[in-house]
Amino acid sequence: MSTCAVAICSNYHIKTKDKGVRYHVFPVRPNLNKIWISKCERQDHINVKYARTRSDHFRPSDYMDDTKNRLLGLNQKIILKPDVVPSVNLPLQGNGTFQVEVRGKGIEVFYRKQKLN
Ligand SMILES: [Zn+2]
Repeated sequence: MSTCAVAICSNYHIKTKDKGVRYHVFPVRPNLNKIWISKCERQDHINVKYARTRSDHFRPSDYMDDTKNRLLGLNQKIILKPDVVPSVNLPLQGNGTFQVEVRGKGIEVFYRKQKLN
C-alpha cells in the first residue's frame, strides 16, 4: 500500500479511502527531488525510490491536460507538469493544523488555517 511521504499527513492518509487520489513518485532530477524532500518536512530519511506524494499536495493547475486522450474520448492520464513541487496541505504552510473528520465510511483530512485575531 502506498503512503504519503509528507510529514504528519501520512498518518492519516493510510486510513482514508477517498476516490480519485493518486500517488506521485518523486522526480528523478536531483534539484527538483531535493525540493520535494524539503517540502515533506520529514525528520527521518526519505527513500525517494519508494516514496510517494499524494495528489492532494498539488493544485489542479499543476497537472497537464491530456489533450490527446481527451480528444480521442479515452481516459485522460493524470500527468504532473515537469517542474511542479508539492504546494498544498503541507506541514509548515501558514499557521494551520491538520484536521481529521469522519464522514460516512471514510475519513477526510484537511488543512485548516488558524484565524489570526
Ligand atoms: Zn500527504
